[in-house]
Amino acid sequence: MRVAEIYINQINKNMDRSFDYYIPDFLEPMEIGLRVVIPFGVKNSKIDGLVVGIKESSEYKRLKNIEGIIEDYPKLNDWQIKMCYWLQKSYHCLFMEAVNCFVPSNLHIKKKKENGRNTYYMANALHEVKYYKLSGKYFKTEDYLAQIKSNATKQREILSCLEEIPVSFKELKEKTTCTTANLNILIKKGLITESKEINIRNPYKDREYQYPVNTLNRHQQEAFDSFNSYEKPSTFLLHGVTGSGKTEVYLRYIEETIKRGKSCIYLVPEISLTSQIIGRIMGRFKENIGIIHSHLSDGEKIDQWNAIKNKSVRIVLGARSAIFAPMDDLGLIILDEEHENTFKSNNRPRYNTYEVAKKLQEFHECHIVLGSATPSVSSYYEALYGHVNLLELPERVKSIPMPEIHIIDMKEELYAGNKTVISRKLHNGILQNLKRGEQTILFLNKRGYSTFVFCRNCGYAVNCPNCEISMTYHHNIKQMACHYCGHKEHVPTICPKCNSDKIKYTGSGTQKLEMQLRKYYPQARILRMDTDSMQRKGAYEETIDLFQQGKADILLGTQMVTKGFDFKNVTLVGVILADSTLNIPDYKASERTFQLITQVAGRAGRGDKLGEVIVQTYEPNHYAITLSQAYDYKGFYDQEISYRKMMKYPPFSDIIYIGFTNEDEVQVSRDCLKYYDKLYKLVKEEEGEELLREMYQPTASPIKKINKKYRWYFIIKTNHLLQYNSILNKLSEEKEIMELHSTLIIDINPN
Ligand code: ADP
Ligand code: ZN
Ligand code: ZN
Repeated sequence: MRVAEIYINQINKNMDRSFDYYIPDFLEPMEIGLRVVIPFGVKNSKIDGLVVGIKESSEYKRLKNIEGIIEDYPKLNDWQIKMCYWLQKSYHCLFMEAVNCFVPSNLHIKKKKENGRNTYYMANALHEVKYYKLSGKYFKTEDYLAQIKSNATKQREILSCLEEIPVSFKELKEKTTCTTANLNILIKKGLITESKEINIRNPYKDREYQYPVNTLNRHQQEAFDSFNSYEKPSTFLLHGVTGSGKTEVYLRYIEETIKRGKSCIYLVPEISLTSQIIGRIMGRFKENIGIIHSHLSDGEKIDQWNAIKNKSVRIVLGARSAIFAPMDDLGLIILDEEHENTFKSNNRPRYNTYEVAKKLQEFHECHIVLGSATPSVSSYYEALYGHVNLLELPERVKSIPMPEIHIIDMKEELYAGNKTVISRKLHNGILQNLKRGEQTILFLNKRGYSTFVFCRNCGYAVNCPNCEISMTYHHNIKQMACHYCGHKEHVPTICPKCNSDKIKYTGSGTQKLEMQLRKYYPQARILRMDTDSMQRKGAYEETIDLFQQGKADILLGTQMVTKGFDFKNVTLVGVILADSTLNIPDYKASERTFQLITQVAGRAGRGDKLGEVIVQTYEPNHYAITLSQAYDYKGFYDQEISYRKMMKYPPFSDIIYIGFTNEDEVQVSRDCLKYYDKLYKLVKEEEGEELLREMYQPTASPIKKINKKYRWYFIIKTNHLLQYNSILNKLSEEKEIMELHSTLIIDINPN
C-alpha cells in the first residue's frame, strides 16, 4: 500500500506536522489536496485531515489506514498547498490556520439537520462507486446492495423509487414511508445525494445597478495603454489624485483581463465595500461578480465560494480575505486604497495582502495593480526604485480643480477668545453651506464623548480595570467605556482615591461634537458615523444612502468618513483636530496624518461646484500638514523617506514584533526574556554579530495590560528577514518554545 502524508485538522502546535497513513487500495487513486477521515490517537477517534503528500513507503512502522474520503469537500490544488507552506513559514502560523484561509470556514461544520423541505434527492451513479462500508467491512457495490435489500426494507424502498434525476422530499414522502433519518443513512453510505434547490444566495442580485462606461480622458487612457503593453506579469502603482477616476481605470483593466480569458480579484478595504463600489462593478459586469466579505451569511459565503470555484463568476470583489479566492487562472489582482492598514491581517496568519499577492503572482503569472491617491511610502519607494511601474492620474476628471485647503491654528483661535472646537472660519463655512443647501463632512479621529474622566482634586483618572488605559465617556449610554476591551462602567460621583466630588470630563469625541453641533446649528440635519453609531447591521449603508440622497446636511465621524465616497454635493470638509493622528507613538504617524487629510479633503468638490477644506490643528507647521495643504505628495514622500532612511524604518528594514501575553504579570516577562535569550543564542551561533545588532531589548508594552492580559515584547529591525524567519521557525521546534506557542505573537511589519 502507498502512504499518504496528512495534516490533521486541529489548531494545535503539537500537531503542526504531517502524519503518515496507509492508503487502502479501494481509496486509490489517492490525490494530494483531498480531505480524508482518519483514526487518530489511542482511542482511534475519527478526525479529518488534508493529504499533502503521497509516497511509496514510510520510515514508520505499523501505520493506520485512511478510512475514507470526504466527498463534496473542495480539493486544494497544488499551488494552494504551496501557498499554505509559504504562509506557515513566513508568518509563523500553523499549517492548518493557513489552510483555513483557502476554504470557507463553515465548510468545516458538519451538515446541520435539515427539515428536508426544499431538499432533493437522487440515486448516485452506482457503477462509479467501488466500495461501501458496512459494519466495519467493505463490500463491492453489488454485494452491498444485496445486503441492504435483505435487511433494510425502508432503505430498499427509497432506493427503488429514486433515479438519477432529483426527486423532492415531498414527493418521496408521498411514495414511501421514509424519514429523514433513513435518507441520511443512505447519504452517509454514498448511495444517494442530497441537493438544495439551486439558488445562489447573493444579497445583491435583486438590486438594479448601472454604471455607464465613461470615455477615458487622456491620463486614464495612458494608464490603460501602459497596462496593456505589458505581456509578462507585472506590478503597477496607480497614483491618482482623489476624484481622478481610478475606478474607471480598474474596470477597464478587469474588462481586458476577462477578454484574455483570465479571472480577476478586486480588493478594497472592508469599510469601502459599500453599495457605491458594488453598484459600479455590478453595473458594469452584471452577474459575473462574486462578493466576499465578513457580513455575508454562512450560506451566502459557501455559494459565492462555489460559484468562484466552478467558474460561473470570473471577478471577485472583496475585502482582504478574498485574496484567497479559489481561482486557478488568475490574471489580475487589484488592491484599491492600497495604503490602508486593513490590508494587513491582525489575526493568524498575520499576512500582508500585498505580499500574498506577490506570491500568487509567482504561481499565476498575473498582474498586480496597487491604487491610491496617497500611496504608502513603501509602495512609492518600490515604484521609484524597484520593479513596480508607476502610472499617474495627476488631475481630477474633467479637470475639476482640487479643493483649496486652509490651515487654522487653534492656538490663535483661543487667543481670539474662541473656546469652542469649531474655528470661526469653519463656523462661517458651515453656516454658508446650510444656507446654500450644500453638504459638509466633519472628521474627528476620536469617538465617544469625553476622553478622560478625572478628579480635579488629586488627578486620579479612571482607567479600565482590564487594560490600564483611560476610559472614554459615552453620552448615549451615560457610562464610560474602554475602547480596547469594551468594558463599561458608571462614572464615579466621588473620587475613589481622595473622596472629593470634583470629577471632571475633558477632551472631545464624535459624540460630544454631535451634541455641540446640534446646539450651534439647530436647523441642520446631522448624521454621525463611528463604530458606536454603526453597530446595527445595515446602519452604515443607510447612513451613506441618506447622505447621498441629500437627506442630511452634515456628516460627522471618525476615519470612516474619509473613505472613498463620491458625494457630488459636498463642498465643505472640516478636519476638527489634525493632531490626533500626529501625536501617536508610531513611525507611521506622519504618513497616516498626511493620508487622512488628503483623503478626507478629496471628498469635497467632486461635482460641478468648487470645494473647500478647513484643517484645524495646534501644529500648523508640521510637514504632514503643510504638504497635504499643498497637495504635494511627492514633497511629502521626499521628507518622509529621508526620515525613514535615517531611522532605518521600512522600507529600509523590516520590523519583526515578538510579543507575549499572559494574565500573570511575572510569567509574561519571564517568557519573553526566555524567548529572547534563546533567540539571541541561536542567532549568535548561526549568523553572528550583524544580525544580533538588529535585536532590541525586551520590555513591557506601552499599554501594559489589555483585556486582563499583561503584555511584553521586543522588536527586531532587520535587513535579513529571510534569515530571521528561518531561525524563528527553527526555534519554534524546540520543546520549551513550543509550550509558549499559545501566548506568543510574531508579527512581521505590524500596523
Ligand atoms: P477616484 O477613485 O480616483 O477618487 P472615481 O473613480 O470615484 O475617482 O471617479 C470620480 C468620478 O468621476 C466618478 O463619479 C466617476 O464616475 C467619474 N468619472 C471617471 N472617469 C470619468 C471620465 N473619463 N469621464 C467622466 N467621468 C468620469
Ligand atoms: Zn481625587
Ligand atoms: Zn479595557
